[in-house]
Amino acid sequence: MANTDTTIKAVTNPQNNNTPIDISTTIQALERNKFIVKYFEHPTDATAYLANRIQNKRVALGDSRTLLELGVYDALVPYNIEVTDIHRPLPGESFRETALRTMGRDVFLTSVNALSQTGEMVNIDGTGNRIAASLFGSEEVFFVLGTNKITPDLASAIYRARNVAAPQNSKKNKKSSLNPCSKLEEKCYDCGSPDRICNALTIYYKKMRNMQIMEVIIINGDFGF
Ligand code: SF4
Repeated sequence: MANTDTTIKAVTNPQNNNTPIDISTTIQALERNKFIVKYFEHPTDATAYLANRIQNKRVALGDSRTLLELGVYDALVPYNIEVTDIHRPLPGESFRETALRTMGRDVFLTSVNALSQTGEMVNIDGTGNRIAASLFGSEEVFFVLGTNKITPDLASAIYRARNVAAPQNSKKNKKSSLNPCSKLEEKCYDCGSPDRICNALTIYYKKMRNMQIMEVIIINGDFGF
């Protein structure tokens, strides 16, 4: 069930086990920044919420391990006009063509690389399609993430995006497997690799002007990178 109860427990900060993260503080900070927030204890409840909440729409899913782990594509397909997934190109379609189809839909879903307890979110992108679609063109954008991505403040959120999320994303992708963060100790080397996946970093300070809804779905547990 969705829950924004201010008594929600604290979770451990993945960057510093001695610093607890308070979910209720995080939710309140996001709401001050005009994001709608829903919190779920169980991933199945989050997926069911999305399937109920998003219906009869033209929907697109950006690159997100979290959305894959939650089975969001399969949950949305029966209830919507069309669901475009960046991971499901049409036969013969180029990456660019699939990416363009994810833009300007009624609803766009993705995740973030980090969420600060002070209410900002951070995403890094290599090609920019995920960030672009999350900022403009859709009427509603949903960011779906686990509590593992919450950090104490914006500086630690940026640190997490660069030194935790990006190296893991680099490793998962065959093309970027030669990047230094894929081969060496897990951290960012600010590389000059042609397959560098960190070409833009976006901070979502507040809901974008003219976008109807930006909603953050927080799930208790570890999801994605
Ligand atoms: S800039 Fe290069 S080394 Fe750093 S995380 Fe990105 S791909 Fe890895």
